[in-house]
Parts: sequence; structure tokens; C-alpha cells
Amino acid sequence: MSWFIKKRQQKTAVEERTVRVPEGLWVKCDACRELIYRAELANTRNVCPKCGYHFRIGVAERLESVMDPGYEERFGELQSGDPLAFSAAKPYADQLRKLKGLGHDHDAVLVVEGTLKGHPVVMGVMDWDFLAASMGSVVGEKLRLGAELALAKGCAFIIVSCSGGARMQEGALSLMQMAKVSAALARLDSAGLPYLSILTDPTTGGVSASYAMLGDLNIAEPKALIGFAGPRVIEQTIKQTLPEGFQRSEFLQSHGMVDKVVPRDRLRDFVATALDWMTEPHG
Ligand SMILES: [Zn+2]
Repeated sequence: MSWFIKKRQQKTAVEERTVRVPEGLWVKCDACRELIYRAELANTRNVCPKCGYHFRIGVAERLESVMDPGYEERFGELQSGDPLAFSAAKPYADQLRKLKGLGHDHDAVLVVEGTLKGHPVVMGVMDWDFLAASMGSVVGEKLRLGAELALAKGCAFIIVSCSGGARMQEGALSLMQMAKVSAALARLDSAGLPYLSILTDPTTGGVSASYAMLGDLNIAEPKALIGFAGPRVIEQTIKQTLPEGFQRSEFLQSHGMVDKVVPRDRLRDFVATALDWMTEPHG
């Protein structure tokens, strides 16, 4: 009857499975689940060397990877108020205070002025770590001022977007930013100055429904989630299964919503070439 007796599992196999990796030395890729040596990621601009997944990066890293050294922050004095005295499980004023204490002084967007491969540009970079890069009054105002500054200087304006959408803690005031920034971009357009939109993972809600999609060129990072409502909401509304890759950069490019999907390591060169074409006279 020995075949009814459950054999003990070999311990060694279990031990091998549960080996702990030293914290901070290895990173698990969100897409392919492979372990990546953290130092290797620094060399690839935080792109998975195994599957090409683009990890989300911070504002400073983005600016360093695209701009020439020597750029300067603009409109940093603008700070969010709490116009609705919004109080839910987490009061808005407390959230703002906490974020400021963590060094996020620039709200959800940092606007800088500088050069990109010699081209003078004004650039706004949205910060996911600040309330999911939600678009409140300060985000809208800084981007409007950025567009006005580009207009005054006669240079290109670039926005690197990522966002969870409009900031609910500021209610309708957040929604008004969509029209305000769009109107400022229209003035740039009338003056014949280029506006480039760079969409990164994820760009959703009111940001995707306004300035992120208004670029003379809409450039997206590979496999970025770009859309207005989430896929589950859409499926429930239209009662249809969505196609593979729906709302990802490549899908949007093949349907004409995005002009070009550009990997992170080629972004700086691509933007510089686009600016060569858009700003230099050529016949
Ligand atoms: Zn990967």
C-alpha cells in the first residue's frame, strides 16, 4: 500500500524557489517578469533589456535624457490652493502639504526653458509621483504660461505627458484647464511655432482629451497606455470585447491617432530632427 502514502517533497527545490534577492539590487520587469540587474537599467534609460518594456521615469531623468544641460525652471512659484476645501478620506490640503514635504514643489508639472540639441525650447514634463500627474489649476496655468513663453521667445513648445486625468479635488476648475491650455496652443499655431506632444505611460482622461493629442507631432513611447476612459468602462458601455493592444501606442499609431512610436533611447534625436524640419527654412 505504499503508493497511497504521500512522499515528502524534496526540500531543496522549495528552498531554491524562495531564494530572496537582495533588495534594491534587482528589479522585476512589470511586463516579462524577468529579473534585471538594477545597474543595467541605468545604462538602458530604464528600458527592460529583455523585452523593451519602458519603466516609468521621473521628471529629472526625463529632462536629462532629452534636454541639453543648463535648462532652467520657470513658473516654479505657482502652488496649488484648495479652492473647494475638498475633504474626503484624505483631505486635499493635507495631501498637498505632505507632497511638498517630500520635495515635490513643482506640483504635477515642471516647466523649463533651455535648448535641445541647440534648438531653443520650452518644455513641460508631467510628474506621475504628484497625485498621478493629475491636471489641476496649477498644471494648466504653468502649461499656458509655458506656451506664452514659447510664443514670446519664438521657439518650440514641448509637453511630455502622463496623467490619470483631471484633478477631482479641484472639480470644474480642473476641467477648465483643458480649454485654457488648448487656446494657448492655438495661439502658438497661429504664430507658426511648433508644439510637440510626447505621450508616456499612462496618458488618460482630460489630458489625453486636450493638449496631449494636439501636437503638430504626437509622439508616444512604446506600449504606453493612452486613452480617455479605461478599457473596462468602454467594454461595459459598448458591450463588445476590445481588440488586442487597444489603447496602446502601437494600436493608436496604426489607427492614425499617434504619429510615431519612438523608443526612449531615440527620443532626443527624433525630436531634434523634427525641430530641424519644423523650424529651419527649407525649400
Ligand atoms: Zn521585460
